[in-house]
Amino acid sequence: MARFTESQDAQVLQDLAAQLTQGRLVSSAASMAGHSRDFADWAESGAPVAVVIVAHAHEVQAVVQVCVAHGRPVVARGAGTGLAGAANAEDGWVVIAFEEMNRIVEVNSLERYAVVQPGVINDDLRRAAAGKGLWYPPDPVSSAWSTIGGNVATNAGGLCCVKYGVTGDYVLELEVVTGTGDLVRVGRRTAKGVAGYDLASLLVGSEGTLGIITEVTLRLRPSPKPARAIVGFFPSVESAGEAVRAVAEAGITPSTFELMDRHVIAAVEAMTPIGVDQGVAALLLAKIDDAGVEGDETALAVATYFGESGATWADQSSDPAEAEALFAARRLSHTALERLGTVLSEDVCVPKSALPAMLVAVEVIAEKHDILIATVAHAGDGNLHPLLITPPGDQAARARAQVAFAELMTQAIALGGTITGEHGIGLLKRDGLLEELSDPVVSLHRQIKNALDPAGILNPGKVLGPDEVDSPA
Ligand SMILES: Cc1cc2nc3c(=O)[nH]c(=O)nc-3n(C[C@H](O)[C@H](O)[C@H](O)COP(=O)(O)OP(=O)(O)OC[C@H]3O[C@@H](n4cnc5c(N)ncnc54)[C@H](O)[C@@H]3O)c2cc1C
Repeated sequence: MARFTESQDAQVLQDLAAQLTQGRLVSSAASMAGHSRDFADWAESGAPVAVVIVAHAHEVQAVVQVCVAHGRPVVARGAGTGLAGAANAEDGWVVIAFEEMNRIVEVNSLERYAVVQPGVINDDLRRAAAGKGLWYPPDPVSSAWSTIGGNVATNAGGLCCVKYGVTGDYVLELEVVTGTGDLVRVGRRTAKGVAGYDLASLLVGSEGTLGIITEVTLRLRPSPKPARAIVGFFPSVESAGEAVRAVAEAGITPSTFELMDRHVIAAVEAMTPIGVDQGVAALLLAKIDDAGVEGDETALAVATYFGESGATWADQSSDPAEAEALFAARRLSHTALERLGTVLSEDVCVPKSALPAMLVAVEVIAEKHDILIATVAHAGDGNLHPLLITPPGDQAARARAQVAFAELMTQAIALGGTITGEHGIGLLKRDGLLEELSDPVVSLHRQIKNALDPAGILNPGKVLGPDEVDSPA
């Protein structure tokens, strides 16, 4: 049964139209469908009552105020590249789409920060910063499409985060519309600042459940230095995991440290030949960006640790084009694997010491449930993406994959890790979150949600699940 009646929908649409410039409120079937869900094939979604393509923070505020008045759920949408169903609408929800709030307001070289609207594409910010000799490091593989608003709301990671940190490490200040419809600023732009609770950090990774972000101030760094690439071919995922552990134990932090297993190598090879022998069970790609002789010595040491951990071949790439082709292949992994079937993306993260054990566990779980699991990993962070691939329409395989997905999370927790390193909870990992967090911590989450979103309209049901707002006594 529909949660909202037709007359309630009509009233919401009328009140939204009264607040918005013509053209902002979209209700065509095509636009609804195109804005109703993210990339997570397995997460449910419904038909929103309206999509609002916003241009100003005050429009966002007006939409939230209408939603508060009507008790109508509202979900923010960046580019919809999320992999957990976090941007999915349900029947009757209002979607706030940020594609036209995509202005880079300021790149400040003196203070080394950028002020951007939430719909700015990650790569566009990186290019603008580079134009001033600066660098915005967080680089999710989706950087060509995903937005800064979505990156902040999921605390996105990426390839160079192993050395330079994730999105949250760069967030200085946020402008946010709260669940009460107030437009506020949290955080600061100064180099230091401890006035009050760190509400900006609380908003980071909150998946649109605590506030709708309308502007972001991000820390920038000086431009990166040229890096050397080291490549290793391994006879097993375990030996590749051992190599990552050995490099970390030696106190070396590559600026990028990625892994592709044999299924990923084969899928990428089928799409864009990269010339890797199909007998290779795992490939490690590392970059070292320390300057001068120190950089040369560190790169040599990484290749040596690869060899000592069992690599059948390991070397510093002498051909920058060849090395870049391998990193490009890494970025293509998801697309290449999607050609094999329906993909359910895992995102567990374990301590580096537990990486070999987790990689072996993935293979054991794949065999146990007769599921193809291809693993790419931000290996230097211990952040694995085992991608569970099932033939489209094969319900039995899908059921087995669902069990395997849950087992992978349980295994990561048992190894001292977490169920998600960067993709977030969304709809797909709510059970896993309850498994990972203790009851008092879940209760703290609920209290925070109720405080910032008393009407329970901000992306309800995401992260904590349907009971997140306690019923009034
Ligand atoms: C091929 C591929 C590779 C990927 N690689 C990576 C990777 O390396 N690292 C990584 O971390 N992720 C990766 N992802 C996942 C995804 O790109 C990230 O989660 C990204 O941050 C989502 O950004 P988006 O703009 O698409 O947000 P969406 O998917 O639209 O939304 C994500 C969440 O953010 C919320 N949100 C969006 N905008 C706002 C706003 N203005 N205010 C409040 N909440 C908002 C949404 O409600 C939702 O909860 C990948 C995805 C794909 C498809």
